[in-house]
Amino acid sequence: MKFSEEQIHRYSRQMILPGIGGKGQRKLAEAKVFIMGAGGLGSPAALYLAAAGVGTIGLADFDRVELHNLQRQILHRTVDVGLPKVESGKRTLESLNPEVKVETYPERITSANIRKIIAGYDLALDGSDNFPTRFLTNDACYFEKKTLISGAILRFDGQLSTFKPHAGGPCYRCLFPEPPPAGTVPSCQEAGVLGAVAGIIGVLQANEALKEILGHGESMAGRFLMFNALNLSFHEVKIQKNPNCLLCGENPRIHELIQYSQSCPGNVAAFCPGNVAA
Ligand SMILES: [Zn+2]
Repeated sequence: MKFSEEQIHRYSRQMILPGIGGKGQRKLAEAKVFIMGAGGLGSPAALYLAAAGVGTIGLADFDRVELHNLQRQILHRTVDVGLPKVESGKRTLESLNPEVKVETYPERITSANIRKIIAGYDLALDGSDNFPTRFLTNDACYFEKKTLISGAILRFDGQLSTFKPHAGGPCYRCLFPEPPPAGTVPSCQEAGVLGAVAGIIGVLQANEALKEILGHGESMAGRFLMFNALNLSFHEVKIQKNPNCLLCGENPRIHELIQYSQSCPGNVAAFCPGNVAA
């Protein structure tokens, strides 16, 4: 593909970067990124991916915009309250960059439809707010051999990692084998979350997605980042593939997608503080 003068102008500040150029910009234009959740993490991630010229963005969210979302879910505006989040998100992304194709999935994402959706994308970002969806996304990415960029937030804390077991790294289940029992991890609704924390982790997810697409820099695969906003600290640990992983281990016990009950752990934040093997 050839870039128009307007495109070169739009992307000039990143096209002059070493490791991007016209070749990298073309990779971005051809890339297809799936985003699970048009909420606190998906919003900033989608905005930066659209601004950077990622050609196709898939947005999946079953919810409608509510007033209490607006404190952190910056894809949506006050006038959007009541609209499906994917519709509001698509409009915002297209107004930012009309060149981006936004595919929307307003339906509930389940074991019945997720693999088919994810198969059409190059990589996935997880910005879901509940464990059933988080594990479903991880497992679907594993079976479809797609890179998963995972983010989680709660209160003043955030976590980030990239999972690509198809390239030898760990998967999400290598760290967190099963969803926690219902009621053991509080939700953002119960415990709260600072909007800026969602912004920081969501933008880091976009950053890692861009690096994976460009094949530039050092991947977060095999690394797990923990962020605390109050003392402004980033702490990183190395993570390894678990040979006993239920999904990607030597003798896997999971051979197909598991539909965990949405009502079981409820609308919990996808967050397992401190439970990380160094
Ligand atoms: Zn694993």
